[in-house]
Amino acid sequence: TLSPLALKAAEEVSSKWRGTTATGGKTMNYIGGEFTESKAEKWLEVRDPSTQTLLTTVPETTADEFAQAVEAASQAYKTWSKTSIMRRQRVMFELQHLIRQHSPDIAKSIVLEQGKTFADAQGDVGRGLQVVETATAITSTLLGDKLEVSQDMDTFSRRLPLGVTAAITPFNFPAMIVLWSAALATVTGNTLIVKPSERDPGATMIIAELCERAGVPPGVINVVHGSAPTVNRICDDPAIKAISFVGGDKAGKHIYDRATPLGKRVQANLGAKNHAVIMPDANKNLTLNAVAGAAFGAAGQRCMALSVAIFVGTAREWIPELIERAKELKVSGGFEEGTDLGPVISPEAKTRIESYIASVEEEGGKVLLDGRGCTVPEYPHGNFVGPTVVEAVTTMKAYKDEIFGPVLTIVSADTLDDAIAIVNANRYGNGASVFTNSGSTARKFELEAEPGQIGVNVAVPVPLPMFNWSGNKGSFKGDIPFYGKSGLDFYTQRKTTTSLWPAADAVGNRASVHMPQ
Ligand code: NAD
Repeated sequence: TLSPLALKAAEEVSSKWRGTTATGGKTMNYIGGEFTESKAEKWLEVRDPSTQTLLTTVPETTADEFAQAVEAASQAYKTWSKTSIMRRQRVMFELQHLIRQHSPDIAKSIVLEQGKTFADAQGDVGRGLQVVETATAITSTLLGDKLEVSQDMDTFSRRLPLGVTAAITPFNFPAMIVLWSAALATVTGNTLIVKPSERDPGATMIIAELCERAGVPPGVINVVHGSAPTVNRICDDPAIKAISFVGGDKAGKHIYDRATPLGKRVQANLGAKNHAVIMPDANKNLTLNAVAGAAFGAAGQRCMALSVAIFVGTAREWIPELIERAKELKVSGGFEEGTDLGPVISPEAKTRIESYIASVEEEGGKVLLDGRGCTVPEYPHGNFVGPTVVEAVTTMKAYKDEIFGPVLTIVSADTLDDAIAIVNANRYGNGASVFTNSGSTARKFELEAEPGQIGVNVAVPVPLPMFNWSGNKGSFKGDIPFYGKSGLDFYTQRKTTTSLWPAADAVGNRASVHMPQ
């Protein structure tokens, strides 16, 4: 059963919000402005990762229901795409206010279904809210290009929406990533079908209701639940013009390969292996706190988690102190006061993470701090893995794969050049950070390290939404990244008009067949 704190949160969330429940009922679809119970035959269970209590079931949306969502989004597009930009801006103003107001409820739903701590869940909502806030600036950010080419000729470039778009989102940021699309797809005049992670659908349902209250008309945002079959329908439906995907490599590559040959625009943020390069001249306290926070926060289930620490030269002497800081972190249920790490998402994830830790020993590496078999007396059935520090070399499985758990892999390097070579040999390119007090070291790292998001004494260098998400290499597929200026590019297409208004007496009476210049 749920803990008393979780039970209270579950009752609050279930009684206040129409589309979601955390007391064992069914999660609704949201189609054409209606929260509807699916007629699905197959339902997927969502369990509290701290206790395994059944919170809700999620439908594998039927083909008919999916078609209704596409139809609703197609119909709504006809009018929404023609609303004035000020009206869409006003909806964003209202939405940012409502999200701020109801952020605790969204966070509670996240803690219940996903397991992260309440403070961390509020950060999840907060980072999504920032994208909504920047979307309120649309009347400036979407200003187009116009040039008086000559006295009688103007060229003007419009930015038009694409049509019906879709977002397929992962379990680890159930609010933030949904808000990236909910804000940017709609403020630019598109309509949207969201297929949230089947493991934590609640935040999306609350967001859908807030969108409705903010004045998003029926059909502009729709939510359909499910897993691979529903995703495949999104890839295949000709009415859907663009897909924004965030998640693991396997699903992302599948979606990209299935949808792009059909002419769809796809942006896919994928997995990661983010390195911290720790130089001996760094501020020790700042570095160790930052590395421990970014390796173990959210139980390591962030695509920007720091999962590799490269200690350069004598910085190795700090390893014992890093381990001490990791040991101090408290593992417990996400609602409990003082919890640093909640459970991982599922028993299968716990088994997978523990087998990666075992693989380090099997391959000749060392487990310096072992989080396997972590138990929390108040939560005997939780999927807990304690902070884990392993020492490995780059040929080992635990180094090469994304573990997606609270496991920090330590590798060593003699020089900054060696460390940068390690970072660049990795197939992923989401983020990398350097910890140093030397400007020239920082500058060299910034220029030479290949990942798309660089931190200098910053462990989680996720760009604020006026910049783009800029992961690269194996961490991204597509051409146009998420949010920032790119986000507007992703959700718009350009149409350029050239007009000629010569004075009547300036026009001759013979046709010209040359290519006009
Ligand atoms: P996931 O790939 O299992 O699921 C993501 C989405 O894809 C879900 O909506 C799911 O229903 C769908 N899906 C899963 N398998 C599918 C399949 N075989 N066919 C079609 N659709 C499928 O990812 P997850 O476990 O929910 O999230 C964790 C992953 O997401 C990690 O790899 C993490 O690095 C990545 N992630 C990346 C970023 C980023 O910005 N780069 C951000 C967050 C998470």
